[in-house]
Amino acid sequence: MDGYARSKIVCTIGPASRRPDILREMASGGMDVARVNLSHGSLDDHRNTIRAIKSLSTVAVLVDLPGPKIRLGELKEPVQLREGDAVKFTTENIRGEGLTLPINYAKLPAEVHPGGHIFINDGLIELDVIKVDGDFKGFEAKVVSGGEASSNKGVNAPGASLSIHPPTEQDLKGIEFGVQVGADWFAASFIRSKKDVETVKDAIKAVDGDQPVISKVEHGEAITNIDEIIDSSDGVMVARGDLGIEVPPWDIPLLQKKIIAKCYDAGKPVIVATQMLESMVENPRPTRAEASDVANAILDGADAVMLSEETAIGAHPVEAVRVMESISRVVEAGATLRRTQRPREGQPIPDIIGSLASQAVESVRPAAIFTVTRTGFTALMVSKYRPSTRILAVVREAKIARRIRLFWGVEPLDVQWSNDRDELIIRAVNKALRDGAVMESDTIMVVSGSTLEAPGRTSTLEILRVRDILYHAGRKD
Ligand code: ATP
Ligand code: MG
Ligand code: MG
Repeated sequence: MDGYARSKIVCTIGPASRRPDILREMASGGMDVARVNLSHGSLDDHRNTIRAIKSLSTVAVLVDLPGPKIRLGELKEPVQLREGDAVKFTTENIRGEGLTLPINYAKLPAEVHPGGHIFINDGLIELDVIKVDGDFKGFEAKVVSGGEASSNKGVNAPGASLSIHPPTEQDLKGIEFGVQVGADWFAASFIRSKKDVETVKDAIKAVDGDQPVISKVEHGEAITNIDEIIDSSDGVMVARGDLGIEVPPWDIPLLQKKIIAKCYDAGKPVIVATQMLESMVENPRPTRAEASDVANAILDGADAVMLSEETAIGAHPVEAVRVMESISRVVEAGATLRRTQRPREGQPIPDIIGSLASQAVESVRPAAIFTVTRTGFTALMVSKYRPSTRILAVVREAKIARRIRLFWGVEPLDVQWSNDRDELIIRAVNKALRDGAVMESDTIMVVSGSTLEAPGRTSTLEILRVRDILYHAGRKD
């Protein structure tokens, strides 16, 4: 198909990528969504970063809330932990030095047990708990597998039943911040149940936000409760970094496929994240295994693939985006993505029309499907069936145009809204002609409301010739 990727690319923005010129290059290289992780950096930096992102055409801003993630505190300097080292973890508010490491979760000493395992930095470093202090203010652990520990790196204690749920105090501050700076999406870390999702959503509403919520699936309990989590969320992230510690790494491939399949059935966007092009943190080219990993996530049916360290602190952020874009483009052009399924009985009308549109594409071969979508839902329902043509979305609000950048294959069209549906389609087609997305000789499909129904409803699928639309428009003038 055309020379662009339909799978979406989420890029974590950090010191390596927050300069406006780099952001611009990443956007033209294929970045659809910029992820700002509030677990790192300062709010002032994030505010500036988000301002720079918003000045780019329609890149969406995803604000990632830390959740009840245990992290190291500040260290005076990074420390090399070696096998056999005895490390002292403390909940006291100090700067770490040598083998004394502060942790940010006061109850951890009470929730670990001698013999239990502790992991640092997405599982890179492993320690065994030796002894818990009598006052529960710290514990000792022995390094089993070494590596470098630095400020704010994540700490996992699988099996320790954490008593805190999202949103944490820090999350509430993050939500307020995100609403203030106009985030397009929130991601919530360490979601374990529907109740967690609902509490996060309530907190967003409480500060007058209307952002949709992506639940990060990265905890064992989230796997158990996956159906209710998908059902109550607006999207899901397969957060393989933490998930791969909570469950053994070899469980990840099938879990990824299962979660993606469930999201597909539910019509919820799903992001596959962590270590996708890990070696590009240092190298300008990916490994074969990494290229295959990105390709397989796309073949599994992910809406989006994500870059973490690669773009946040890597040496080649722009190249990493370009590589991901190239992998997506080649895979999409050369393989059938996913069997089109039929909607179940009782599904909403936009879902049924999305399915019909995708089936019709195979016989009509239109240059594009135009979808008129106020909330983005209709565009999502067309995207759900992975039609083999472009999906051009006509929206009323700029924030919806950014939000839908996450949906597989959906491209917002920049046209002035009109409540006159025909006028809106004419504007959209003219814009697509100017952009070179369609030609006068093309056939297109339009998914929109009907004049016989209340505005905002999706009820029709039309198959139209661009030339006829232009002729009709000319006559109208
Ligand atoms: P999560 O579990 O939410 O993914 P993480 O610690 O793995 O948390 P990422 O967002 O995946 O964090 O980013 C990868 C690494 O890049 C971080 O561990 C951190 O070292 C660095 N990083 C990310 N964002 C920033 C930032 N804004 N400022 C400084 N460093 C950052
Ligand atoms: Mg995580
Ligand atoms: Mg990560």
